[in-house]
Amino acid sequence: MKNNPQFLIVHHTGASETNPKEDTSHHTFEIVNAWHKKLWNFKSSLGHYIGYQYFIDKTGKVTQGRADTDEGAHTLGKNLSSIGICLAGNFDVTEPTKEQVEALKVILKAKMSQYGIPLKNVVPHRQFANKSCYGSKLSDEWVQNLLKVKPVPTPDPVPSNGAIVDEIKTHLQAVDTLLGKIK
Ligand SMILES: [Zn+2]
Repeated sequence: MKNNPQFLIVHHTGASETNPKEDTSHHTFEIVNAWHKKLWNFKSSLGHYIGYQYFIDKTGKVTQGRADTDEGAHTLGKNLSSIGICLAGNFDVTEPTKEQVEALKVILKAKMSQYGIPLKNVVPHRQFANKSCYGSKLSDEWVQNLLKVKPVPTPDPVPSNGAIVDEIKTHLQAVDTLLGKIK
């Protein structure tokens, strides 16, 4: 079955099984790939086992694990209608690096435009699962806020010619009044 991307689902690598507070930001593509091979042994058309289409390590390096059209193994019920993107780290306890966030924005923008995916369909894993993924330190809106264009501040209105003429008249009247007083 071919994946037909309608959602962009963002994940973190999360805690280890034994320690919910473990910082997993050092996890690499290879580590997660080996883990998922052990879990599911579900090979992608690119020859990897990692369940996500894209993996972003803490330096911001992006590695593709599955083709966009490959079935994913990251979000139950959405693996044939989404692209999974995972950031290394446990965002229940830490936050993503600047480099990760920049790389994430690039992928999200590219895939939104490539597949016509609306902003409302760019979501954390927890929207579809009873878990904290992409981490409780990041709000539900965090990922969509990354993609919103900041409004450009409106400049002060430039006075119209009429307003300038009125201002000059007022000044001239003031000068007249002064001259009147001097006479
Ligand atoms: Zn997840």
